Amino acid sequence: MSTQTTTSPTPIGNPETIPGCWIDGKARDGGGPSYTVVNPATGVPVAAVALADSIDVDDAISSARSGFASWSLRTPGERSAVLTALARLVERDAELLAAQEVSQTGKPIRLAREFDVPGSIDNIDFFAGAARNLDGKASAEYSGQHTSSIRREPVGVVGSITPWNYPLQMAVWKVIPALAAGCAVVLKPSELTPLTTLHLARLATEAGLPDGVFNVVTGTGVDVGAHLAGHRGIDVMTFTGSTPVGRAVMAQAAANGTRVQLELGGKAPFVVFDDADLDAAVHGAVAASLINGGQDCTAATRAIVAESLYDGFVDGVAALMEQVTVGDPTDSATDVGSLITTVHRDRVHAMVQRAREAGARIVTGGELPDHPGAFYPPTLVADVAEDSEIYRDEVFGPVLTVSKHYGDDDAIRRANDTAYGLAASAWTTNLYRAQRASREINAGCVWVNDHIPIISEMPHGGIGASGFGKDMSTYSFEEYLTIKHVMSDITGVARKPWHRTVFRLD
Ligand code: NAD
Repeated sequence: MSTQTTTSPTPIGNPETIPGCWIDGKARDGGGPSYTVVNPATGVPVAAVALADSIDVDDAISSARSGFASWSLRTPGERSAVLTALARLVERDAELLAAQEVSQTGKPIRLAREFDVPGSIDNIDFFAGAARNLDGKASAEYSGQHTSSIRREPVGVVGSITPWNYPLQMAVWKVIPALAAGCAVVLKPSELTPLTTLHLARLATEAGLPDGVFNVVTGTGVDVGAHLAGHRGIDVMTFTGSTPVGRAVMAQAAANGTRVQLELGGKAPFVVFDDADLDAAVHGAVAASLINGGQDCTAATRAIVAESLYDGFVDGVAALMEQVTVGDPTDSATDVGSLITTVHRDRVHAMVQRAREAGARIVTGGELPDHPGAFYPPTLVADVAEDSEIYRDEVFGPVLTVSKHYGDDDAIRRANDTAYGLAASAWTTNLYRAQRASREINAGCVWVNDHIPIISEMPHGGIGASGFGKDMSTYSFEEYLTIKHVMSDITGVARKPWHRTVFRLD
C-alpha cells in the first residue's frame, strides 16, 4: 500500500450547526439531540446536526400527505419539468455536493466527482423522462358491453431510509422515482451522512417542487427510523441498508400492513473460469473490490478462481493492490479514502484477524495503518475456508477473499453458496459458459467480464438476504404505483343481461 498521510487531524473547533430536518419546504432544527457529523479521514467535526424527534417525523408525514394531494394531480409533464430543473441545480452545485460527500464519508474526491454526483444527475434526468411514460395498459372487453382500462396511480406517502455509503445516490435512487410517480416522500438519511440529502431537498424546493412533497428527517435508526417505519401514515417503506436492519424495518412496517421494498447487503462472487483473460480479471477484481473502500453492496468480495489460474490471480491482485494509493480523500490522486468510522474500520480489521487465526493467508494488507483516520489497506485473503466468517459474512471494507474452484459445476455451486443474492460476475471467454453462469448464478445482477457498472435504465435489486424490489429503471415505478382496474359500461342499458343470473325480474 502506498499511503499519503496529508490528512493529519486539525484542531477540533466548533462546527457549524445545521438543521437536521427539511419539512414542508423549509429547514428546521429537529427536537432531538444534537449529533456531530465527523470527517472520518481526519476526525474533525464537519457539522452539528439538530436531529429529528418523533414529533418532527409526525409533522413530516402530515406535510407529505398534503404535498401528495397536490403533487399527485400534477401532469406527468409538470412533474418532469420539476425533475429536469432539479437535475440542472444538482449539476450547478456538483462541486459542493462532491465536497460534502467527501467530508462526511471519507470517500475519494475522484469517485464523488466522477461517479456519485454525475450518476445522481443522470438518474434524475432519466426519471424526468420516465415520468412521462406512466401510461396504463388498455385491456380486455367483457361481453362486448364494457371496456376496461388500467390506471397506475401513485401509492401515496413513501417513507424511505438510506445508508451512509453513497448518501446522495441512495437518496436519489429512493426519492426521484417516487416523485416521478407522483408520490410524496419522507426520507431519513443515515445520521452519519445527512449533508447531501439535506442539500438535495433544498434544491428540489428551488427547482419548484411544492412544499411538503420531499421531506427529510435526520435521526438515528432506533428512534427516528423505527418511528417512521412503523408509522400508519406511510403507504410504502423503501429501505437501503444492512440485512438485519432491513428485516427490522419490514417487521415495523408489517404492524400496519405497509408495503416494503428492501435493498440489503451483498456478498458478491467474482467467478473466474479457466479460460478467462487473467489480466482483465485481475484489474476487474481490484477495481470492483476497492470501489468506495469496498463499502459497496455490489463490491466483489469472494473471488472464486479456477485452479489453473489461481496462483497468477493471487499474485496479480496482490501486486496491483500494493500500487493503490490510500490516503487523503480530497486529493484527486487518491484511489481509496478512509472508511466511514474508526469503529467500522476496527470491525473490518477484527474480521481479517479472525480469518488469519482460522488459517487463511493474508497475501497483502491486513495491518492497521498508524494513522488516526479510519484508513484500512487493500487486503487480499487467500485460501479461505468455505465455512469461514470472512467468506460468508459481509465485511464492507477493502477486503477480497480468494478461493479455488474445480470446474464449472463447482464454480457455480460456490457462487450460490451464500444467503445473499445481489450481484455477481463471471469471467470467461467462452460464450456458453457466460450464458450458463448468467442463468444459474442466483443474483439480481450478473456481469460478464466486468463487475460494478450500473446504468439508470437498468434495474438494481437483489434476492434472498439481499432483499426484494428494484431501484433505478422503469421497474422501480412498480414500488411507487398501485394498479387500478376501471371498468365502464359502454351500452347505457339499465338492465344488463348478467343481472338475470342474479334475479329473474324483467
Ligand atoms: P444500516 O442497516 O446500519 O443502516 C441503514 C439505515 O437504517 C440508516 O439510516 C440507519 O440509521 C437506519 N436504521 C438503523 N437501525 C434502524 C432501525 N432499527 N429501524 C429503522 N431504521 C434503522 O446500514 P449502513 O451501515 O448505513 O449501510 C451499510 C449497509 O447497507 C450494508 O449492509 C450494505 O450492503 C447495504 N447497502 C445496500 C445497498 C443495496 O442497494 N442493496 C446499497 C447500499 C448499501
